[in-house]
Amino acid sequence: MTRTAHHPIPWNDTTLQALNRRFCDAPPEALLAWAAAEFGDRAALTCSFGGAAGMVLLDMIARQRLPIAVLFLDTDLLFPETYALAAEVERRYGLPVIRQRPALSLEAQARQHGPELYARDPDRCCALRKVAPLAEALRPYQAWISGIRREQTAQRAATEPVAWNAKYGLLKLSPLATWSARQVWAYLHTHAVPYNPLLDRGYPSLGCVPCTHPAHPDDPRAGRWSGFAKTECGIHT
Ligand code: SF4
Repeated sequence: MTRTAHHPIPWNDTTLQALNRRFCDAPPEALLAWAAAEFGDRAALTCSFGGAAGMVLLDMIARQRLPIAVLFLDTDLLFPETYALAAEVERRYGLPVIRQRPALSLEAQARQHGPELYARDPDRCCALRKVAPLAEALRPYQAWISGIRREQTAQRAATEPVAWNAKYGLLKLSPLATWSARQVWAYLHTHAVPYNPLLDRGYPSLGCVPCTHPAHPDDPRAGRWSGFAKTECGIHT
């Protein structure tokens, strides 16, 4: 892994505000290019291969031939279509997808925490199968790029393109923070980007099989964790 950046850089309120002024109305490609110039291969995109926005960013990174790593959190509980898309992306773009799996197999988790933890305590299950693996996956990186958008949930409404993420100790970049769902889909169709076919079959958002159900397309996070007051797995909170 090479270092292209001249770090440490003091990420304080002043520098972050300046970056957000610069990138708030800029095309997402501009923030991705800045991340690549600043961090080189110490920047990583997390892509779920479930949502549409991650595919936009992945395509932009591939098109610009940026050295940004692509991380895939594999909970062992994803849809077959999700695994198939990750494999298709590797073939089509020639991009290595770095797969991060939980420390506990499903069997070990069932032995330690009981079967079907997701049905009893989804926060605990997400902590084990998503949050802890993400922390492990991000350890080598200085910048984390994700496809979250302001309009997705109330919790994401204040998302800035550039923010310090104290939880993981790195800069978090959200190049699509201000994009609408319409912009995301327009990009995918214009550039013929592959996406998860379940998004065309009544799933507005995709995660693990036990916690994802078809839902009304007007609510981008509906259909996740039905029966619980939960809209986030914890990696973005
Ligand atoms: Fe567990 Fe459901 Fe969270 Fe997946 S989305 S880690 S199955 S609680």
